[in-house]
Amino acid sequence: MLSPAVDNLVAQLTRLPGIGSRTAQRLAFHLLQVSKTEANALADAIRDVKERVRFCNECGNLTEEEVCAICLDARRDRTMICVVEQPVDLLSLERTAEYRGLYHVLGGALSPIDGVDPEHLRIDELLRRVDRNGVQEVVLAMNPNMTGEATAAYLADRLRGRVRVTRLASGLPVGGDLEYADEVTLGRALTGRREM
Ligand SMILES: [Zn+2]
Repeated sequence: MLSPAVDNLVAQLTRLPGIGSRTAQRLAFHLLQVSKTEANALADAIRDVKERVRFCNECGNLTEEEVCAICLDARRDRTMICVVEQPVDLLSLERTAEYRGLYHVLGGALSPIDGVDPEHLRIDELLRRVDRNGVQEVVLAMNPNMTGEATAAYLADRLRGRVRVTRLASGLPVGGDLEYADEVTLGRALTGRREM
């Protein structure tokens, strides 16, 4: 409508989660108005994360090294692994300052209808870590929604007999995401975790 370049920028922005076409247009016009330096800083930041950031070889967290800072931290309790869906959930749990163990990031939740099956998540890696490293407890911290519940049930099944399995206490808003739970609620859910 305006220029192919602007149309393309709007189209790319519309693909981002939570960005509708109106917001995408507003963002595109904003970027047209700011200085070239400012706009390029955004483009560079996107290119940088895609080039530098990778998944931790141990836990699947985001890192710029082979292994993330949490896995390398000698003060963390290596007998506990807290399993989360995404790195953003790990950040929420870290903010509570209630947990001192290690993490395992699955990379999503089971959802056969969307084509997400066990082999698409870091589940084999979790089982290998549990068998190998003297882990005594696995805390399941999936999102309190349908796919999260299904994933927790599946993991509890696979882990049974290998290790103590617990999950976050209820009290988290059902259907929500850990990402949006406040620190106090999440901290309580963690300390009040129960056997599965
Ligand atoms: Zn790690």
